[in-house]
Amino acid sequence: MNINFENASFKDFENIPGYDMMQRADYYYEFLEYMKYKGRHHYRLQNNTGCGSVINVGEKSPRDYISFVTSDYLGFTQHPKVKQAAIEGIEKYGTGTAATPLIGGYYSFHQELEAKIASFFGRSRDESVVFTTGYTANSATLQILLQKEDIAIVDRAVHASVYEGCILTNRKTFPHNDLDALEIILKAAQRQYRTKLVVIDGVYSQDGDIAPIREIYSLVKQYNAYLMIDDVHGVGILGETGRGTIEDTGLLDYIDIISGTFSKTFGNLGGYIITHKTLANFIRFQSRQQIFSATAPPSSMGIIKALELIDEEPQWRERLWKNINYFKKELNGIGLDTGTTCSAIIPVKIGDPHITGDVGRLLIEQGIYTNPIIYPAVARKDARIRMSVLATHTKEHLDKTLNAFEGISKMFPITEKKRRVKK
Ligand code: PMP
Repeated sequence: MNINFENASFKDFENIPGYDMMQRADYYYEFLEYMKYKGRHHYRLQNNTGCGSVINVGEKSPRDYISFVTSDYLGFTQHPKVKQAAIEGIEKYGTGTAATPLIGGYYSFHQELEAKIASFFGRSRDESVVFTTGYTANSATLQILLQKEDIAIVDRAVHASVYEGCILTNRKTFPHNDLDALEIILKAAQRQYRTKLVVIDGVYSQDGDIAPIREIYSLVKQYNAYLMIDDVHGVGILGETGRGTIEDTGLLDYIDIISGTFSKTFGNLGGYIITHKTLANFIRFQSRQQIFSATAPPSSMGIIKALELIDEEPQWRERLWKNINYFKKELNGIGLDTGTTCSAIIPVKIGDPHITGDVGRLLIEQGIYTNPIIYPAVARKDARIRMSVLATHTKEHLDKTLNAFEGISKMFPITEKKRRVKK
């Protein structure tokens, strides 16, 4: 099989008929070399400093960049109080837990963390389960709850961890945010499957748009199904008091499973679910991740402080929103299409993957680090530059980036108007 490197995506190398693992890896190596030669490979760059609005990146010729590539939305990875709490965790307990939760790895700080994240959502400790990543919170939860007789009904744009969680069960996807399509699937699934679990994101990670939660909740109730919402990019940012996308719908107490991460707004590592008491208990003792994989390290005590800071220091959320609103308005002012985002994730939609790669490279050359996103993360003709705005970005950082985009928009057809003409 001959893959045309010019139009190939990383996904084309997942499986190649007749190629064993070594041949496939060799072929992929050639593809990466080609991408580097073309200047289209901006992935896995080395960060030498840590999270922040300005970071030092690179191995051979490191330099400082304005960064839009992390989800450290409130800047808590560098907050002195959060760091101090993490250090205290290490001083008290050591660096690791060296055991799985079921057999020796469940420490008092895990208990405290479970209680804290549950009470953050107005729930009791026995209604939360903590995991080592957000990815496993999703995949492990779905894997243990849904079996061969069940079905997961998922929005097409949900995170990869949800797809992985559905490997052992039946899965149907519905077009993004399409309520009519969801209803058709729910209706058909009614008698065919035992448990019907609808899975959506609160904020979608590539477009930054939000789910119509109220409408989906009513459909789920009408058809006797359950609802799981991954609100990784909403919690700490959206909602009157930062409780996420669900807060303003008034449904926080009614969603069957809320899942989230500690690796974004809370500046650490880990994941969690908030769910019914008996489901939480079941997952705690039955999920493979809880049985066979070690617990989060004592530096997770930083999360407990970060959760408190959401209420104690609302100024970070306010700064973030000031930045989001300014940046989005100015990008649109240049004529760029930021789609339907309502969050800190700002895409600049370009469409063509090659142009998107070139724009990413030109931004890098000007000291601005963004993520060019192409297929399979988004549809083939829906490539974009994806940026996460942070509370710690200054107006100067945003203005420098806006100037760069303005300059690039004179060289490439990336404004809405020019893209329309190109079509
Ligand atoms: N869900 C969504 C929507 C995400 O964007 C991510 C992270 N990219 C995850 C889950 C996984 O979270 P974590 O990084 O904590 O594994």
